[in-house]
This record gives sequence, C-alpha cells and structure tokens, in this order.
Amino acid sequence: MLRLPGTTCCGSSTVASCSASSQIGNQFHALKLPRSAVLALSDFNNHLVSRVSFETGSDAGAFLNKIGKEIRKLRSKHDDFIEFPGIGVSLPGLVDNHSGKFLLSVVLPWRDVPVVRLLEKATNLPVIIDNSARCSALAEIWHGKAQYAQVRDLLYVSVSTGLACGVVIDGGLYRGGNNTAGQFGHIPIDLNGSECRCGQRGCWDLYASDKATIKRYLGLRGGGGKRVPTIRKLMELVDSGDPAATEAVRETARYLGIGITGLINGLDPEVVVIGGEITKGWGLIEPIIVEETKRSLLAPRSHVVAIRRSAFEVRPSLKGALTLIQNDLLSVPHMG
Ligand SMILES: [Zn+2]
Repeated sequence: MLRLPGTTCCGSSTVASCSASSQIGNQFHALKLPRSAVLALSDFNNHLVSRVSFETGSDAGAFLNKIGKEIRKLRSKHDDFIEFPGIGVSLPGLVDNHSGKFLLSVVLPWRDVPVVRLLEKATNLPVIIDNSARCSALAEIWHGKAQYAQVRDLLYVSVSTGLACGVVIDGGLYRGGNNTAGQFGHIPIDLNGSECRCGQRGCWDLYASDKATIKRYLGLRGGGGKRVPTIRKLMELVDSGDPAATEAVRETARYLGIGITGLINGLDPEVVVIGGEITKGWGLIEPIIVEETKRSLLAPRSHVVAIRRSAFEVRPSLKGALTLIQNDLLSVPHMG
C-alpha cells in the first residue's frame, strides 16, 4: 500500500481505499509530449484503457486542437464510462502550471503556449499540466515501489535529452515561487566548460544527459561517418560489451554521481530515484553513482541515502500525467 503524500481520501490515506471510485468509471486522459506525443486513457487505478501516439506538430494551437478532437473521439468510444474528470499533460520543458502555460523547451519549438486554455476549449474538460520530471516524481510517490510507502522527501532525476529533476518535499511536489523548480541540470559544474543553451558554461546537463553520453560515445568510437545512435541503441551496445559505449556510460555515471551528491547535500532526500534509458545499464552505473556520493557527502556516513532506479521502465512521465488528475482530486485544499 502506498501512502498518498499530502493527501487524504475518505478519511483514509491509502490508494486501496480510494480505488473503489473506479467502480463508477472514473477515467483520466493523459497526454505526454516529447517529439512524439502519447495520448492515453486510464482508469482510476492507473491501468491503461487506450494509448495512441502522434507526431508532435510545431504549430502548438493546431496540434492541441487535433488532440482535442482525438480526446472527444476517445470519449465517444468509451461512453460506457460514467465520468471523465480531466486531462493530465506532461510537457518536456519549463511549465507554469498556475498560468497553465508551457513556457519553453529544447525539445519542442513551442513558446508561451496556453496549453490549459487551448485544451480545455477543445475538450470542455479540466486540464492540468506539469513538466515531465515532476510528473515522473509524482508517479513514483503514487505508484512506485512499495518501499517508498513511508518516504516523504524524494528527489527524482530524469535523464533524457536534457537533465531535469522533480523534488518531493514532505510528501508534496515542490514547484517553487514561479512554478519552474527542478531545473538542476543547469547548475554549472565547470566554469570553463562548453557554452550551454541556457547561456551559462559547463552546466551539469552538458555532462550527464543522454545527449552528452551520445556525444562522448561518438568521440570515443571515432569514425565520424557512422550513424549516430539513439540512447536506446547505445544502451544495447553496452549490453553487448561495446568498450566505447561502456566507457561513455561509465563517465556519465560519474557525472550523475557528482551532481546528485550536490543535490543530496542541499536537499537531504530520503531516496533519490533515477529515470531514463540509461538505467537499463543499472548494474554498470549504480556502483559508480553510489561511490561518487559516498566520497562527497557532508552528512555522517550513518546517514544513508537510498539511490534507486525508477519503478517504471517505460514512460514514467506518462504514468505521472495520468496521476495529475488523481493527485488534484484527492489533494487537501490549501487554506487562505
Ligand atoms: Zn545550462
């Protein structure tokens, strides 16, 4: 059983006691938007009823209108369900979930897009958005391994094209004063490093993201004319014993450990969860990350921080998007 951090339901604090709601057919849409968008429908227990992928369009308005039509189709197809309480959207970049806007991203050419307003207009359903790292953190505390049942403070590190984090403090997602918290990938770790897209030099992102791992691998492999692999392909190469791929991933693990150590020193989480394709090489990267953290932690050695890979091998942020509506429905309202 998982505790619902910062939430109660019917006087209880367990998912199981809330799951009876699924008997009346509560359903949730979720939209996850990297280059390829995934539109999914789930029941109250987060079980997928439907999932379909679309190429994400560069014209945000036209694309969200198209998705709105698809959601209306889904509703018609599943008209046996009594209630559709809302749509959760996971977005790859800076998200202001108070204004309902997707601010910017390196993955999508969208800027200041009023996602909530556009999708609500297209579907006549409530919409909640958040960024993919925070959605993933939410998925871990709601639907992650039972070992997190008592965890109140968790750091989620999303290793993808870029590097971003979701921070859970005292059982709730931390969003910050401007709702853009978690961009720890842009903490500089080398002032003489390369220029980052954020305008600074030597950001953590440039050393520990998938993009960095692939770049490192290409440098080690040589032979510039060969095809550039995806991170999934690169992890398959690691699995097959490729020396250049293995060394590239080992080096990324060292940088992950360096950055995570700084965050542990600053945030003092009980658990650090790492998600992304790179965790397919967990047996390779975990000892390196743990070794780095042991070397540099300020807290006493008796104060052990668990470092785990995500409970979800596939699409943790989609799980989180599906959870956004559940989280909203069951959260205790803020006073004042
Ligand atoms: Zn940066």
